[in-house]
Amino acid sequence: MTATAPREEQLWSRCPGCASLLYRKRLRRNLDVCPECGEHARLGAPERLRQLVDPGSLRLLPDQLPETDPIDFVDVLPYPHRLSAARASTGLAEAVVCATATIGAHPAVLAVMDFRFLGGSLGCAVGELITRAAERALDDRVPLILVTASGGARMQEGVLSLMQMATVSQAIAALREAGLLTVSVLTDPTYGGVAASFATNTDLVLAESGARMGFAGPRVIRQVTGRALPEGFQSADVLLRHGQVDMVVQRRSLRARLGALLAATRAARPARPPVPRQDPAACRERLADAAPAGGGDTPAVRDAWDTVRLARHPGRPTTLDYLDSVFDGFLELHGDRIGGDCPAVVGGVARLADRHVMVIGHQKGHTTAELVARNFGMASPAGHRKALRLMRLAARLGLPVITLVDTPGADPGVSAEEQGQAAAIAENILTLTVLPTPVLAVITGEGGSGGALALAVADRVLMLDNAVYSVISPEGCAAILWPDRSAAPQAARALKLTAPDLRRLGVVDEVVPEPTTAAHGDPAETARRLRAALLSNLLPLLDVPPAMLVRLRRQRFRRFGMARAGTRAGAR
Ligand SMILES: [Zn+2]
Repeated sequence: MTATAPREEQLWSRCPGCASLLYRKRLRRNLDVCPECGEHARLGAPERLRQLVDPGSLRLLPDQLPETDPIDFVDVLPYPHRLSAARASTGLAEAVVCATATIGAHPAVLAVMDFRFLGGSLGCAVGELITRAAERALDDRVPLILVTASGGARMQEGVLSLMQMATVSQAIAALREAGLLTVSVLTDPTYGGVAASFATNTDLVLAESGARMGFAGPRVIRQVTGRALPEGFQSADVLLRHGQVDMVVQRRSLRARLGALLAATRAARPARPPVPRQDPAACRERLADAAPAGGGDTPAVRDAWDTVRLARHPGRPTTLDYLDSVFDGFLELHGDRIGGDCPAVVGGVARLADRHVMVIGHQKGHTTAELVARNFGMASPAGHRKALRLMRLAARLGLPVITLVDTPGADPGVSAEEQGQAAAIAENILTLTVLPTPVLAVITGEGGSGGALALAVADRVLMLDNAVYSVISPEGCAAILWPDRSAAPQAARALKLTAPDLRRLGVVDEVVPEPTTAAHGDPAETARRLRAALLSNLLPLLDVPPAMLVRLRRQRFRRFGMARAGTRAGAR
């Protein structure tokens, strides 16, 4: 809402929807919804909580965490300066406020995001606070309600912010397993990593009237496709028509609707299941002993931007190349069983040294024609659903899953959004956190954002030493945080996206060394090294009982919630 004149700033504001001049007190009484046209203004988290819960029932959860600047990020401003400014202007510690409360007399835990705080971006602290809120809901045996408002992952925390999508998703998985209801309320705007994780992998997804939600934002999609977007694209009503949300709710009805949903699901809540007794420490040590770090841990002397260019080299081996050179007897399986077979994702059963495995990977190509046919390795929702189908099949058959990650990111197109890109990625991330079979991921080329993570929530994450793994492309980051895209090389350095950086941060367990000519210079030697690394990492996982595997996998990703200066995620 913009002021009409400085002197009247406190009294009047102009509705961005219909341009009516509105008396501010009247607007606030109407929950910041324009009485003339129904435009829902954005709300800060404190006001949102006040509107949603029973009066007098709100108890804020602790929000103090140690300072976070896990990759010492600097663009034109150091990240800590941006954080301090956000704190000063909002009066909040972070971009989420968590609380216990009752809604219609039903107890619940709430986590409410605040878009005013660095665009509601998901960083380590936000991930940690929401995870703690979910754990509180699990302890109290009450539903979890997430109110989302976010531009996506916080690029100033690099790939560690991407890891938060997995951390929060597995906390939601734990509530799902315990039979506790999870609800997300999408408010305007909800995009990127938040849309592709906890905003859409909850039991119920409500959208506030007028909210927009998507994986890729409209500006990016227009840039990529060069086309005008359809009317109402990514808006609540269109999301409802495309089957992506359960209901669209006016702000004035939200509290009553949530209360009714809590009441309706309350009777079904089961008693707490017994906790299985196992010793995770012993298992973890066994894994660490059995899979020593490879010879790739020598520090890279190469500049990050040069590594980005190597990772994108058209001669670099693709997933199908590795299926030919590293594995035997690959049988490709096609289709998502819903309506598509995405060419950017290939998968099927294969043998690795006479052990049967399920291999799933992004497929690029070496020529322009191949790249176009494979959509440059950018998976559509059908690709993510094909991967999901193969992961579940592997779990049923007791096959380990090996994923090969090489994508600039998920498909940022209009139809991908209409077919539920965000929810498709979110479901894959959550499913990988519960999959009762070993999962081994290898970043072989480009590990681009949520599209990469949708195949990379694994027991062990390996990375070829000229691959990159990042929350956003250096070009995209430069366009947002620097004056222009030509700062991509600086952004590449700031993002800490190389294999040695990510090994240090604990995001990657082992770096697989490439020949001195890089993977495209000697594909056969690269394949030999990758095969050895896959075997040394896979064999110890085969002895771990499925329940323990899942538990250790979750502990692995839970660490990243605590990633911050002083207690680096990788420090073990
Ligand atoms: Zn209006």
